[in-house]
Amino acid sequence: MVMDQPRNVRALGLCSGGLDSMLSALVLRDQGIHVEWICFETPFFTSEKARLASQQTGIPLHVEDITVDYLEMLQHPPAGFGKNMNPCMDCHALMFNKAGRFMQTHGFDFLFSGEVRGQRPMSQNVSSLRYVEKHSGFDGRILRPLSAQCLPETPMEQQGLVDRERLFGFSGRSRKPQIALAEKFGIKSYPAPAGGCLLTDPGYSRRLRDLIDHGDELTRNALFLLRHGRHMRLGSKTKIVIGRTQQDNEQILQWYDGETDALLKVKNYPGPSVLMPGGGPDPMIFLAACICAGYSKAPDAAPAQVQVETSAKTQTISVLAISPGESKRFLIT
Ligand code: SF4
Repeated sequence: MVMDQPRNVRALGLCSGGLDSMLSALVLRDQGIHVEWICFETPFFTSEKARLASQQTGIPLHVEDITVDYLEMLQHPPAGFGKNMNPCMDCHALMFNKAGRFMQTHGFDFLFSGEVRGQRPMSQNVSSLRYVEKHSGFDGRILRPLSAQCLPETPMEQQGLVDRERLFGFSGRSRKPQIALAEKFGIKSYPAPAGGCLLTDPGYSRRLRDLIDHGDELTRNALFLLRHGRHMRLGSKTKIVIGRTQQDNEQILQWYDGETDALLKVKNYPGPSVLMPGGGPDPMIFLAACICAGYSKAPDAAPAQVQVETSAKTQTISVLAISPGESKRFLIT
């Protein structure tokens, strides 16, 4: 008589690269389940930590760029924002939706994540976890191995794909149970929890809010530029980015688009690179040049020569500096 071979259960996990992601995968792998990870990239977060976790554990990782759909969601997240511009609940729902589609096309049985009930008061309480399931399009296919025993039983547990007894019932903000479990699995290094998402950064969020409020196009360049320099709003359609450090100046040059933007720099004296995304009318260029001179080492009393580069021409204009104290009113803070 030919015996049925036990079916190889395949689970796909969302991986942030943090300890909880790692543990949730190892708990399932410990049961003989084949686990792989998926991780998403946008201008706001990268797959860097997930790649490290994959190297450390040997769990295969798939990386997908979801910027286009993410930006659409970010304009009007149905569940709103957290403390800053972080739409955590809809972000999770979108990620589970993307992961669910990947699951369907690559023959996985279910999805899982390292979320722990009550660990983050807003995004990981019971109703948030339910919201994410319902809005992901994959309700009933998501397992949280670290908190499963204090959440309703899932179809995967009912069907015997997963042994609920060998899952956990972690709840709340204490990290002690995870640290003890990490020791059991021999995990010695892992990144600090949280961090790494620019949408939780107050300064970045204010600059992003300014872009959205002014109807600026959320291009990759615009979003990467938000990480660097001082940002000033000169008019409803005009803003500038002023390098604060050598590194800012280099980054500004990297994201400068010669086809559309204007780039300003004081001649003959050290000073910042100033980028005007999308360019602007002559009075705005003139104002930007005055501000640019104010942040340079050019003497205050005499006119400064500022080089302005646009796709149409490169010209030098002579301006009187506006001091940083005066131009402060344009700062996006
Ligand atoms: S912190 Fe950022 S990446 Fe994490 S769920 Fe919130 S919005 Fe998404």
